[in-house]
Amino acid sequence: MPRPIEALIHVDALVHNLARARAAAPDARVWAVVKANAYGHGIERAYEGLRGADGFALLDLAEAERVRALGWRGPVLLLEGAFEPRDLELCSRLGLWHVVHCSEQIDWLAAHKTQVPHRVFLKLNSGMNRLGFRPEAYRSAWTRLNALPQVDEITLMTHFSDADGGRGIAHQMAAFEEATRDLPGERSLANSAAVLRHGARGVHADWVRAGIMAYGSAPDFPAHDIVHWGLRPTMTLRSRLIATQRLAPGDSVGYGSAFTADAPMTVGIVACGYADGYPRHAGTGTPVLVGGARTRTVGRVSMDMIAVDLAATPDAHAGSEVTLWGEGPNGARLPIDEVARAAGTIGYELMCALAPRVPVRAA
Ligand SMILES: *Cc1c(COP(=O)(O)O)cnc(C)c1O
Repeated sequence: MPRPIEALIHVDALVHNLARARAAAPDARVWAVVKANAYGHGIERAYEGLRGADGFALLDLAEAERVRALGWRGPVLLLEGAFEPRDLELCSRLGLWHVVHCSEQIDWLAAHKTQVPHRVFLKLNSGMNRLGFRPEAYRSAWTRLNALPQVDEITLMTHFSDADGGRGIAHQMAAFEEATRDLPGERSLANSAAVLRHGARGVHADWVRAGIMAYGSAPDFPAHDIVHWGLRPTMTLRSRLIATQRLAPGDSVGYGSAFTADAPMTVGIVACGYADGYPRHAGTGTPVLVGGARTRTVGRVSMDMIAVDLAATPDAHAGSEVTLWGEGPNGARLPIDEVARAAGTIGYELMCALAPRVPVRAA
């Protein structure tokens, strides 16, 4: 028998969450963001649920080829654009749209030989200071691009640093509006947090870029959870107990004896560890479901195992089903965001970190 751990991808939940993005931004077209192997879900599996999107946005050229290999003929956008001049050949061959965020990328386009002009997204650095032209350089970048025979339409784009939090987007919206005033072309600004939290005029614009919300994680957890946003988990990580241990007061569990029982108790040992992508920093008290009942982890996460408190589930035994996150038995559910928070991280990181050794299948 194979080791009992597996990840399930809930295709119907992807369909549902994409519909939530459409409902939240009814006047915009929706990019399904499938970078990082569809946030760990696997591009091929995510495609089954997200093919109703208007386009797929990603940043790895090999992933763009995989989307085309699935038969997708619609828009594909490279969110970081070309990394070197010859990437533009693949853009021409596969009809990829690409971000232009620096002047070198304009130089490469100017030297590129293509029959078909490219659709580009010109990125403004409106305050996040990762990629993009500063406001004072934006207009001249647009003018230069617009003069190139290699360039077809230019979409105006920026990215928010604080759409999920207290600072918000007003300062970046002001920078975007100022820098793009009276420039023609479509616009794309909103990530998931802006789709859900910022519906004011102009924010959703022509194209929204829905990533994390499609994968059933709340971009602004714990301020809001997926129930609040009407989203459903798209990934379940589940395994089984492979042993139980009866502890006497004073007995400890796992490496570093990080947990010590202060009363008699039973712990279950789960076939899941950090080599499966479970976060090692999740300390005692991280939520977990055993047979659908909520309990907690105890002690340190090791490479292949974690221990869980079975006080709430006295019938649990070797073979009992354990839900690390996602959908459990009998309608029980453990949002990935709760596990992430207990580990001091975010749902994004947990789903992207699902380890290659975990078998994944569509559910
Ligand atoms: C990853 C990414 C997104 C999606 O962000 P979410 O928070 O997952 O919705 C949108 N735009 C750009 C440029 C990105 O890199």
